[in-house]
Amino acid sequence: MRPDLLARLDVQTAHRRETGLWRHAQASETADSPWLVRDGRRLLGFCSNDYLGLARHPDLAAALKRGADEAGVGSTASALVCGHHREHAALEEELAAWTGRERALLFSTGYMANLGVTQALLARGDASVQDKLNHASLLDAAALAGAELKRYPHADVAGARRQLASRPQAAALLATDGVFSMDGDVAPLAGLAALAAEEGALLLVDDAHGLGVLGPQGAGCVAEAGLDARQVPLLVGTLGKALGTAGAFVAGPAALIEGIAQFARSHVYTTAPPPALAAATRAALRLARDDEARRQHLHALIARFRRGAAQLGLPLSPSRTPIQPLLLGDTAAALAAAQALEARGLLVTAIRPPTVPAGTARLRITLSAAHDEDQVDRLLAALGEVVRA
Ligand SMILES: *Cc1c(COP(=O)(O)O)cnc(C)c1O
Repeated sequence: MRPDLLARLDVQTAHRRETGLWRHAQASETADSPWLVRDGRRLLGFCSNDYLGLARHPDLAAALKRGADEAGVGSTASALVCGHHREHAALEEELAAWTGRERALLFSTGYMANLGVTQALLARGDASVQDKLNHASLLDAAALAGAELKRYPHADVAGARRQLASRPQAAALLATDGVFSMDGDVAPLAGLAALAAEEGALLLVDDAHGLGVLGPQGAGCVAEAGLDARQVPLLVGTLGKALGTAGAFVAGPAALIEGIAQFARSHVYTTAPPPALAAATRAALRLARDDEARRQHLHALIARFRRGAAQLGLPLSPSRTPIQPLLLGDTAAALAAAQALEARGLLVTAIRPPTVPAGTARLRITLSAAHDEDQVDRLLAALGEVVRA
C-alpha cells in the first residue's frame, strides 16, 4: 500500500515532542534592540544575530522608507528580466569593493545563495567536500547539485585533504563556514586555501557570521586572514546578520560570478529582492564598514563575557566571536537552563539536535553592540545561578 504522507509526518512530529526536540516560533514584538516583548513581558535577548545592533538603526529604517517611496515595494520581476534596480547594482558594487572582490551578485537569502552557487558549479559525480559542522544550506546544496558529499571532521585540514584525495579525478568544491554558526569558532582558512590550491579544488567560504564583525573594516574572516580572491575564489556573505537587513551575496572573480549569474537557478528563477531593501542594506554597509567604535564595543563585550564566564567556571567554547555557546550536552539540561533564564527575564536559546550533533545541546548566547556592560553582567550573574546549579 502507498504510504500516507500525513500519517508519516504525524509520527515524526510526535517523536520530536516525546524527545524534547519539538520547536515552535513564538511571536514577539521587538521593543528596542536587544529587548524583546513576548506575551507583554519585556525580555533581554541574547539570541539574535544582529551583532552590530543595526537591525533597528534609524539610518536603515530611513533608507528603507525613502527607497519604498522612490521605487515602490516589490521589485516586480527576477533580476534578469526587469527586477534589477540601480539600488541593487550599487549595492553589488559596494559589496565587491568592501570584500576586495571584482564582482558581487545578490541573492534573496543566504540559503538560496549556497544552493545556487553550488548547483551552478557542481554536477553529478563531482565532489562536495565540506566541514561536518557547515550550515545546513551548504549540505543541502550538495544534494541539490547531485554531487557526492564528502564531509571531514570539524576544522580538520588533514581530514579535508583525505576526502579530496579519495576522489583525485573529480571536480571538487571545498566549502566551509567562515565562522561556525553554532560554535563561533573560525575555520582554518589559510590551511584550507593552501589545500585547495594544491588539490585543484575551488574554495568557498560562507562568512555569514564574520562579516561586519571580523577583519579590517569588518570585511570578514577572509579579509582578516589576508586571503585574496585567488586563494578564496568564492565568498558568500549574508545580510540578515551583522548587517541587520536580509538577503545575501556571493563575491569573487568577475568570470566566476558571471557564470553563477547565468546558471544559479535560485538567482535566475526568483523575484529580485525589493529595491528599498537594497537601499537599507547600503546604509547598513556604510555603518558596518566605517563605525569602528561600534565594532570595538562589541569586541569589548565579548572579552567581558569570556572573562566573567571563566571566573564562574562556565563551560565556555573557544570562540572570539559574538557567538558564545555554553555546551551542556544533554537536551533536557539545555532546555531547563533556557527556561530558568527566561524566568529571570533573559532570552537565550537552547540549541538541540538536529541543529547540532547529538549530545552537544547548548545555550547559544550571542552578543551584540546593542548590549551594554551592565546587561552582560546581568547575564553572567544569571548564568552563575542557573548553569552551575
Ligand atoms: C544564516 C546562515 C545562512 C543562511 O542565510 P539566510 O540569509 O538566513 O538564509 C547561510 N550560511 C550560514 C553559515 C548561516 O549562518
